[in-house]
Amino acid sequence: MKDIATPARTKEILAQYGFQFKKSLGQNFLIDTNILDKIIDSAQITSDTGVIEVGPGIGALTEQIAKKAEKVVSFEIDQRLLPVLEDTLSPYPHVQIIHSDVLKADLTATIQSTFKQDQDIMVVANLPYYVTTPILMKLLEEKLPIRGIVVMIQAEVAERIAAKPGTKEYGSLSIAAQYFAEAEKVMTVPASVFVPRPKVDSAVLRLTIRPKPPVEVRDEEYFFKVFHASFANRRKTILNNLIHNLESKEKKKEIEQALAQANIDPKRRGETLSLEEFALLSDSLLSCLQ
Ligand code: SAM
Repeated sequence: MKDIATPARTKEILAQYGFQFKKSLGQNFLIDTNILDKIIDSAQITSDTGVIEVGPGIGALTEQIAKKAEKVVSFEIDQRLLPVLEDTLSPYPHVQIIHSDVLKADLTATIQSTFKQDQDIMVVANLPYYVTTPILMKLLEEKLPIRGIVVMIQAEVAERIAAKPGTKEYGSLSIAAQYFAEAEKVMTVPASVFVPRPKVDSAVLRLTIRPKPPVEVRDEEYFFKVFHASFANRRKTILNNLIHNLESKEKKKEIEQALAQANIDPKRRGETLSLEEFALLSDSLLSCLQ
């Protein structure tokens, strides 16, 4: 039997089930096993690895993961795909499909009930592009016991996540992701490897979870509030963003004092601050506003 991720087999499966793509669910299926091999290689899956997948589609990536991993659990929102997957993935009994929106799933509980204690766990997915950021932020913020995440996403989002301070791509998404993980864009991927072809360029992004954050902050929740406020209006200075989006005009003096304490020019813009500067600023704000 041919691999699912070949143009001929995919066409056959789609025809057999009369499957119509739903654009609203970000359904762009992979039809190139070379790309799948590269995704799987960059995830460094071994026969001990447990894999969480988001959106198996008709099982193209799932099948290739299943050939390498110890166990695979995959979340699919589209009920129409369940009978298809039951059929296409029948040679792989160690794959479990969960019919659920991954954003609503209790991933910690799934990990506990599916994988062995201290098992090597990776998230691997060709993500639905309409929810890339919320899915990635859920995976990171829930501090799951995973080694990392390898995902196919829009090239532009991959560049923003892996961006360095001072570049035009750098923003709150880069900081949020890089607080939890080391980020690298592994490769760009042409639209021709998908059916239907997406309108945007794609890329494979690898996130390697840090054992501990690269900066220490007094209050993590407040730290996240500070940087979200700092990027709320990219044209505004850091001072104005903090006045309008974190505090109020009455606190201008204290904010200026905190910026001075952290050695940050109030006229700078959020996108020029490094993670370390945000950490310093967040701690200074906490002490000056108290
Ligand atoms: N993995 C397949 C492949 O590479 O060919 C399909 C990838 S396709 C880009 C995204 C898949 O995610 C679709 O099967 C879609 O139905 C599913 N999906 C969309 N939103 C989802 C969500 N919130 N939770 C779980 N699955 C979702």
